[in-house]
Amino acid sequence: MAYILALDQGTTSSRAILFDHAGAIAAVAQKEFQQFYPQQGWVEHDPTEILTSQLSCAVEALGKAGARPRDVAAIGMTNQRETVIVWERASGKPIYPAIVWQDRRTAAQCKALVESGAEDEITSKTGLVIDPYFSGTKIQWILDNVEGARARAERGELAFGTVDSWLIWNLTSGNHHVTDFTNASRTLLFNIVKGEWDADLLRIFGVPAQMLPEVGWSSERVGEVTTTLGLGGAAIAGIAGDQQAALFGQACFEPGATKCTYGTGSFVLVNTGSVVVRSAAGLLSTVAWLEPSGELTYALEGSVFVTGAAIQWLRDGLGLLDNAGQSEALARSVPDSGGVVFVPALTGLGAPDWDPDARGAMFGLTRGTTRAHLVRAALEAIAFEVRDVVDVMTAEAAARGAADGAAWYPAAGYQALRADGGASANDLLLQLQADQIQRPVERPVVAETTALGAAFLAGLATGVWSSQAELAATWHLDRRFAPAAPDDAAHARWRSAVEQTKGWAG
Ligand code: ADP
Repeated sequence: MAYILALDQGTTSSRAILFDHAGAIAAVAQKEFQQFYPQQGWVEHDPTEILTSQLSCAVEALGKAGARPRDVAAIGMTNQRETVIVWERASGKPIYPAIVWQDRRTAAQCKALVESGAEDEITSKTGLVIDPYFSGTKIQWILDNVEGARARAERGELAFGTVDSWLIWNLTSGNHHVTDFTNASRTLLFNIVKGEWDADLLRIFGVPAQMLPEVGWSSERVGEVTTTLGLGGAAIAGIAGDQQAALFGQACFEPGATKCTYGTGSFVLVNTGSVVVRSAAGLLSTVAWLEPSGELTYALEGSVFVTGAAIQWLRDGLGLLDNAGQSEALARSVPDSGGVVFVPALTGLGAPDWDPDARGAMFGLTRGTTRAHLVRAALEAIAFEVRDVVDVMTAEAAARGAADGAAWYPAAGYQALRADGGASANDLLLQLQADQIQRPVERPVVAETTALGAAFLAGLATGVWSSQAELAATWHLDRRFAPAAPDDAAHARWRSAVEQTKGWAG
């Protein structure tokens, strides 16, 4: 049993990574899949392509390492969160494409919910805000817009799942319709204090309980893969949403430990221990994981929707780059952005501003503006967006932590920010980040921490590893970025630009 296999089903690609006992990567396979934008503000995936890309990566990774399914001690699953799939139990066919977390189509439903006065109850139970980002209104949309769906859901013919549920249901031939606490905590239907689906929330969102998956722990044996596609018999023993998995994979086990994952979007999470910290400034409270003692660990989260995706858009939408990695050299070819400010609110604004109707904008263009300035402005924007979240988090830590008397408070303001995700390969970005937040930024040797976290959870459940301390010892520093003086004037200009993008699509 040499390996743990992590299946990392992301927003733009599926990845499979084989880890060894030292937490080192033995093989990786990755496959991008298609993004669909059927209308302004809509984002969809093909659930079948999600499944096939994930399976083919898994088989490819095993092949690269010369491993057989019996060499895999356990499979850990991690996934893009909030994305909604509804399928027929009998045939396994999805009744609609996957509605992706970035999709804004339910903005009007969300406004109506706020106007109905439901926000306080929803927020206090879920730790979330009302926004199209989360699964609740997306499920509601499918039930209301696919003919006959609501009646069929009430008869128990349909199943809902986030991507983890969908994949596991398929990998186990429909034997297991499950999810875990971290994924459930992003649906707007789950009470994060009681740790259960909430009947009142289900009523508010009009979601029949019959269609929901069973909620399990993130680190426990779920079942065996039954497919014959080269994985047969391997045990699935870990499930976590991508950001919680990354927090775990970064070994942020102590209250106050903070990470930021730079992928399609960027997500800053700070471990708040056993305390559900309620933010007054647009951060989310979310389940991080369950301790072996049975106690829930929580995190405070700042979700920024478009960061690496801005670079992807410069590549695919504007054709300014051949690949994302090129952005660093191009941005370094100019000393600054030449006064250009780019607000990449391409799918609205997440934390801390929360405006589904904001849209992207570029300010300060002149005849002297070059492609290098635009690319540099995009990297600066990522650093500004994350700074805005970290600023709020630090302020909340000071204001609330003292009141809670919680252990996360003293540590949250000064510790290094642990960075990971595809765009964390960009040294210029991480230096800009350290300068903006005035804290060191640390990148580990294994930047695939999302997959690593899923592997850790599965390995803990199957005895490959025995404690968090053992896992923490596998974390090794690749590079530390020490903060230099921040450009506060540039940040002030950025904030003014952000304000001007709000409400545009409304
Ligand atoms: P996800 O899991 O959300 O699909 P990844 O962690 O794979 O994302 O990161 C991919 C994202 O990172 C893409 O949006 C891409 O544009 C961006 N990216 C990758 N490499 C770089 C780089 N060197 N500089 C800036 N952005 C990058």
